[in-house]
Amino acid sequence: MRTSLLTRHVQTLVVGGGISGLVCAYALQKAGVEVLLVEASARPGGVIHSVSRDGFLLELGPQSFAGTSQLRSLCAELGIADQLLEAPRRAPRYVLVNGKLHAVPMSPPAFFTSSLVKGSTKWAFVRDVFGRSAPPEGDESVADFIRRKFSDQLLDRLVGPFVSGVYAGDPERLSLRSAFPQLHEAEKAAGSIVRGMMRLAKNRKGPRERATLNTFREGNETLVHVLANGLASKLLTKTAAGNVYQQKDSSFHVSLEGAGNNSVSAKSVVFATPTDVAGRLLAQLDPTFGPLLTAVEYAAVAVVSLGYAKKDVPHSLDGFGFLVPRSAGLRILGTVWNSSLFPDRAPVGHALLTTFVGGATDASVANLGSEELSSLVHGEVAPLLAIKSAPAFRNVTIWPRALPQYNLGHADRLASINKNLARFPGLFLTGNYLRGPAIGSCVEQALAVAEEVATSLRN
Ligand SMILES: Cc1cc2nc3c(=O)[nH]c(=O)nc-3n(C[C@H](O)[C@H](O)[C@H](O)COP(=O)(O)OP(=O)(O)OC[C@H]3O[C@@H](n4cnc5c(N)ncnc54)[C@H](O)[C@@H]3O)c2cc1C
Repeated sequence: MRTSLLTRHVQTLVVGGGISGLVCAYALQKAGVEVLLVEASARPGGVIHSVSRDGFLLELGPQSFAGTSQLRSLCAELGIADQLLEAPRRAPRYVLVNGKLHAVPMSPPAFFTSSLVKGSTKWAFVRDVFGRSAPPEGDESVADFIRRKFSDQLLDRLVGPFVSGVYAGDPERLSLRSAFPQLHEAEKAAGSIVRGMMRLAKNRKGPRERATLNTFREGNETLVHVLANGLASKLLTKTAAGNVYQQKDSSFHVSLEGAGNNSVSAKSVVFATPTDVAGRLLAQLDPTFGPLLTAVEYAAVAVVSLGYAKKDVPHSLDGFGFLVPRSAGLRILGTVWNSSLFPDRAPVGHALLTTFVGGATDASVANLGSEELSSLVHGEVAPLLAIKSAPAFRNVTIWPRALPQYNLGHADRLASINKNLARFPGLFLTGNYLRGPAIGSCVEQALAVAEEVATSLRN
């Protein structure tokens, strides 16, 4: 194939304008690289989407993010640090056990005095501190790890709900070393989770990170807007990457579908799309990319935001919200009390509660309708908070492929993908299936990849 007259020449093409692609393109532009970012949909940001409606400020995807030092520096650099909001640090988190909401112990003394877990689980921690154990050779699931080291009860009441909160995942299938690498490393290095975690914290370079939970005054999408504005004409929305092939000079030719209908020739290409798209596109360069990337499973999640008049919610809603163990027999995974965490999320006199349904253990959620989902959520949440009235406001978003699952075999799969990538200098991947799904992890990875790209272009 010859390049057409409409072929645009850039140093680097970034495909996918979620937070990963936006941050990568921003960092490349900052490094003086001539970059183009193409985003298939009309709106950049991917799953980060804030919407104002009827006086409610809704987050259709992530509700907030951990304010890592890197993210804070990025916000300062972008001039939006003053728009950051921080959730009350001591806001309690709850878990539903025996039909009641119990505060999750957030410190060792609170854990040892909590009635949430039996004495035998507490003893297992003491045994861990003074004893020695080693992880098995092969990949171990999160559930097997917790059972081996602690107890079924800890898995059911605290770890399972936490895993739902981060990955919407199934602890029986999530790989410990991929999903929670620090725990695996801690045991491997010190023979004990507690001692190993303490050692890791001590050895961490730089100032100690203050764990905060943040959003922006006008929602998470503020970060997206400012990154997109900075890229200006270097960001093309409604433009999807299509055919990809490598040219004789080893640069890449990528056809663009949508606005303009032309193509790009680039020395390097960063794919910042979910794995189904990356797999389909990269399979054109080497068919083995296809099955490796598309084998990464995703969990479906429905995000249901319900608004209530405060007078109809007898519960104080003092806290972050609650998580639901699978053993409780409900379909909801957990609820965030948005209006308790950040100001102006709901009109005066109202509360906004956002509930997640689905996850890796309940894939059929993607087939439910909006009405059905909001009724289901109201039906399960209302009795827990003694809510007496119907919601005054509802919004439902279904993400059929919400979160990648770092399931057993994930590390091997990534190793094979990296081996393949090594045969294509100039080809890079970034995204939430590589080093953690959290926004902070996506940013960290995107910045690292941008640096790799810039270095490769200088050589
Ligand atoms: C419901 C939900 C709740 C979450 N909660 C939290 C939370 O509380 N805290 C937190 O830190 N994280 C949370 N996350 C995770 C985090 O938001 C995501 O992991 C992260 O935003 C993913 O960003 P990304 O850029 O890697 O991928 P995406 O956001 O998926 O972006 C990929 C982009 O690629 C585009 N694309 C696809 N195909 C093409 C193509 N052919 N050409 C061009 N573009 C293409 C897509 O349109 C999309 O915009 C949550 C995620 C979800 C879904």
